[in-house]
Formats: sequence, C-alpha cells, structure tokens
Amino acid sequence: MDPPTEDELLSCPFCEGHEERTPPETFAIRPGGGAADTPGWTVRVVPNLYPVFKHHEVVVSTPRHVRSFAELTDDEVAGVATAWRERALVAREEGFDYVHAFLNEGREAGASLPHSHTQLVWLKEAPPAVLAEDGNGDCAVCRHIEAELASGERLVLERDGLVALAAYGGRLPYELLIAPLEHPTGTAFENELLTAALSLVSEALRRLRTVEGSAPVNAWLHDHGHWHIELLPRLTVFAGIELGAGIYVNSLAPEDAAAELRDASRAES
Ligand SMILES: [Zn+2]
Ligand SMILES: [Zn+2]
Ligand SMILES: [Zn+2]
Repeated sequence: MDPPTEDELLSCPFCEGHEERTPPETFAIRPGGGAADTPGWTVRVVPNLYPVFKHHEVVVSTPRHVRSFAELTDDEVAGVATAWRERALVAREEGFDYVHAFLNEGREAGASLPHSHTQLVWLKEAPPAVLAEDGNGDCAVCRHIEAELASGERLVLERDGLVALAAYGGRLPYELLIAPLEHPTGTAFENELLTAALSLVSEALRRLRTVEGSAPVNAWLHDHGHWHIELLPRLTVFAGIELGAGIYVNSLAPEDAAAELRDASRAES
C-alpha cells in the first residue's frame, strides 16, 4: 500500500492537531489530562459530520494516521473497546437500548476517510438483521461453534476465550465470525471479552493482508444473545446476481480460507 500523500495527511480531520475540524468530542482518553478538543488523546469519539441517524458517532482509533484497524497496537485496540463501552453506557442511559457498532474500511466498503475509525449508531431497539438471527431458545452460534471445533476445518484461531471461524456458508471469500466460545450473558459492551474480540478483528485483518494484500472490509457487532462480530472482506463487488437474486457466489471455500488464514504469519504493521 502506498504511504499517505502529504495532501491526505494535511486534509485528514482525524489526525492529532486537527481537532477543530470535527464536531466537539463526546468522549476521549487523555492519559496526560488536557482540555477537550485539543491534542493529547489516544482515542477520540466525535459526532459523525454526515449522520445517517440522530446519534451517529465516529470512534477515531488512534491519533496516528494509519489506514487500517490491522495497524493498531494492543493498547489502541483496548482504547477503542473502552470508547465503545463508554458510549454504549451513555446511549442506554439516554434510552437507546441497542448500539450498532461497525467498521467500514476502504472506499469500496463505504469509508469516506482513510484514517482508521469505527462507528456507533444508537438505536431504540435491535435492528432487523439481528432480530432475524433469533432462534427458538436454541443458540445457533453455540451449535455452530461446537460443530466447527469438532471438525477444525474452518477454525482460523482460538484465543482468549474467543474463536475466529471462516463462516460456514459465507457469502464472500474470507467471511469470518468472531465469537466467545462460551455462551455469554449480558451485552458485548459489558463483557470483558470485547477487547479480545476487537483484538481478533485486528489480527484477522493482518492475516488477510498477508494473504490478499490490503482489501476493503466491513465488520459489525451483533450484540444480541450470543453476541459476535461478523467480518466481511469486500474482495468482490455485489452486482446483479447478488443484489437481484440474493445469490452469493463464493469462489473460495471457507475451509480453504481458514487454512490460508491459519498459515498467514503475523504481518509487520
Ligand atoms: Zn489522519
Ligand atoms: Zn450461544
Ligand atoms: Zn450475526
């Protein structure tokens, strides 16, 4: 990937020192103290300048101009998890029971700015995609994980009480599911495994980059029941077959995707 041009750096509203270019921050971690909307932060949350919803926030992952969640340090990933937690708490206090947390990375995946960030949308209730996963008492994620651990074929990584799997029946190559091994109670934002889950996202993106180079990617948290993160690299473009027929032609078997990601050594960031 080409290094950022001078123009990209100068025009970036998320870089440290450019705080006045965003709406006033709603949360930040400032290890050395200091006033809001000044340098010295490690993670920073600001309202989206072009909100799709009333409460639509951007979590700037790091003051450093890096283009991918793959390039974050462990501390930076932990900072993002803290920001998600804190804002979800405030959302709940204000009557928004569901926070949709997601990552768009790369222009083709909907990111308008290259500086690493995630987004939070406050909702009154769980969105349709989440409700559609509701089973009849039986947890589909538990069943899925159990089956995958038994075969091991689609297992990418098991770490810190979480698992990363190449999704069975994935729509696109390298579609991944990241979830706690044990059925969790409560929301993801209250769970100590959230940090480790985001760390697995970062690790998965590093491995993906080793295998495929840098690719646009979408990832999102489904915070309901057995909460999980779905990660969807956008290596192919949705067109008439996918959008019109709802048929996704996945050219890479999930078993092969898992094998490649298992073998991918941790890339230098
Ligand atoms: Zn930047
Ligand atoms: Zn479960
Ligand atoms: Zn889901």
